[in-house]
Amino acid sequence: MPRPILATIHAGALRHNLERVRRSALDSRVWAVVKANAYGHGIERVFDAFRGADGFALLDLAEAERVRALGWRGPILLLEGVFEARDLELCSRLGLWHAVHCDAQIDMLAAHKTQVPHRVFLKMNSGMNRLGFSPERYRAAWTRLNALPQVDEISLMTHFSDADGPRGIADALAAFHRATQDLPGERSIANSAAVLRHAPETRIDWVRPGIVLYGGVPDFPEHDSAHWQLQPGMTLSTRLIGTQELQPGATVGYGSHFVAEAAMTIGVAAVGYADGYPRHAPTGTPVLVDGVRTCVVGRVSMDMVTVDLTPLQAAGRPVGFGSEVTLWGRASNGNALLPIDEVARAAGTVGYELMCAVAPRVPVVLG
Ligand code: PLP
Repeated sequence: MPRPILATIHAGALRHNLERVRRSALDSRVWAVVKANAYGHGIERVFDAFRGADGFALLDLAEAERVRALGWRGPILLLEGVFEARDLELCSRLGLWHAVHCDAQIDMLAAHKTQVPHRVFLKMNSGMNRLGFSPERYRAAWTRLNALPQVDEISLMTHFSDADGPRGIADALAAFHRATQDLPGERSIANSAAVLRHAPETRIDWVRPGIVLYGGVPDFPEHDSAHWQLQPGMTLSTRLIGTQELQPGATVGYGSHFVAEAAMTIGVAAVGYADGYPRHAPTGTPVLVDGVRTCVVGRVSMDMVTVDLTPLQAAGRPVGFGSEVTLWGRASNGNALLPIDEVARAAGTVGYELMCAVAPRVPVVLG
């Protein structure tokens, strides 16, 4: 028998989340961001649920090929554009739209011999200071691109650094509008945080949500996924494979980080950092055991996590070998939910990282 760990992808929840985005984005078209293998969910597994999007946005040509292989004939956008000149050939063949964020990419286009003109999204750096032309250089880049016979459509984009943070988007948005005024072309500016938090000003031609489609929230400390009416796209679950009775003063796990203050029972769950569960999740990180909320005690090890069973015993619930442990997502009995963002926050990270880190050894099913 395989270990009992399992990731379940909830197609219905993914569909619901896409609808949720549409309610916020209204008439904007939606790029479903499926980079990093659909944030760890698997492009092939999410494809049906996200078919209702207007396009797919991703990074790798190999992932674009996978989306085409699934029969998608609509728009696909390479969010970072091409990395070398020969990628342009594949872009033409697959009919991809691609971001252009630097002069080197314009040079590659200018030197490219093609029968099929390219559709590009010219990227502005509005304060993230990763990719994109500065507002001052944006218009010159547009003019250069516009003169190329290899390019037949130029759309305009930026990516906010602080749509989920205290600074918000006002300055970045103003810079984008200033740099792009009078330029023709469609626009795309909104990631998940901007879609949820900064409507209506981000409702323009295209929005680009990622994390919300999977039921996670951006780095908003004040609200959870239920507040935003999102449903978990993934459940990571396992089972107890042992229990231990602790006496006062007994310690748990490597480094003896947890010390029992009173007699208590702990469960040993078959999941560890080799499955992608965060090694830094401290004592107190929430888990569900048979749908009852409890927490991690002691250090996470490679293949095991120890959890406090006191709340189940207090509730008179039988618990032991084989009991279900939900690390995040939805418990199978009833409606108990554990948002991935809560687990991430306890472990000092974000839901994005947990989703992407589920290890290849974890079996995945659609459910
Ligand atoms: N647009 C771009 C250019 C991105 O790089 C990303 C992801 O980082 C997104 C949209 C989606 O972001 P989020 O998952 O926060 O919605």
